[in-house]
Amino acid sequence: MMDDLDAFIAGLPKAELHLHIEGSLEPEQMFEFARRNGVAIPFDSVEAVRAAYEFSNLQDFLDIYYAGADVLRTEADFHDLALAYFQRAAADGVRHAEIFFDPQTHTQRGIPFGTVVEGLLAGMAEAEARLGVTSQLILCFLRHLDEEDAFKTLAQAEPWLHRIAGVGLDSSEMGHPPSKFARVFAAAADKGLKRVAHAGEEGPADYVREALDLLQVDRLDHGNRSLDDPALVARLARSGMTLTVCPLSNVKLCNVAAIDAHPIDRMLDLGLRATVNSDDPAYFGGYIGENYRAVARGRGLDRRQLATLARNSFLGSFLPDAAVAAHCAAIDAWLAEAR
Ligand SMILES: [Zn+2]
Repeated sequence: MMDDLDAFIAGLPKAELHLHIEGSLEPEQMFEFARRNGVAIPFDSVEAVRAAYEFSNLQDFLDIYYAGADVLRTEADFHDLALAYFQRAAADGVRHAEIFFDPQTHTQRGIPFGTVVEGLLAGMAEAEARLGVTSQLILCFLRHLDEEDAFKTLAQAEPWLHRIAGVGLDSSEMGHPPSKFARVFAAAADKGLKRVAHAGEEGPADYVREALDLLQVDRLDHGNRSLDDPALVARLARSGMTLTVCPLSNVKLCNVAAIDAHPIDRMLDLGLRATVNSDDPAYFGGYIGENYRAVARGRGLDRRQLATLARNSFLGSFLPDAAVAAHCAAIDAWLAEAR
């Protein structure tokens, strides 16, 4: 039985702006892909995989994440992975998603760039046709690798750049500041690509400043540690910078002590354009709906605050203005209807 709040959240039109498609690989699907591709995995059951999903920090998680991604081999795998995500997202009221993929995780294993991107694009097209969920693709560079490797990846992407909305920066944050990638982000900007970057998840507020000043990001992924620096908060609020916040991820990776201590409502109160997203939902305990429900209960958010978070997700998206206005009107209609 769905209660009123759950029904309100499920029906609230929303965009997801921080989702790593490889992080939506459910244990069941990991086994299915391993079987059909004849790949050995270091787990003997779905339960064993779930038991391994107890992390104490970002690196713990990344070690398992990269092992799991090894089962992804064919265009069909990437298509099926994407479609499974969109089915869950649609059920959670997602109308638009801007999804990350990590080409280097796959090209390093000998999987061609084209296999990954064609599979994902096919899944995205099918999701739009069948579920009415629009989407865009963001190519993320792995920051634990060097900038030269990122440049190589950008060159591999060349034939598909007209179908890729932007570039991002993810993986191990500590010790890999945004400044390491300033030149490749400038090259991406020259090609007309949008820029986003993970910053201030575990790393300091200074990394957020670097993402703004050196990478010229259009959007900031996480950004939680900005709260340590009032001048930076004021700057983010003034410029209307979108923060793609991931509540359950923050708790799972021990960046926030508990969901009832999450700063999401403080961010809104400070005038930050915060959004709610799932990050790596198969690993962190839930999809976007679960994240909305968790902060709604944990922080006692009311419908008006939940609608603000949803509105922010469209305002922070790369959709054209007319589409943003239409989605925001749908939020207002739902708010009025649900009252
Ligand atoms: Zn992330």
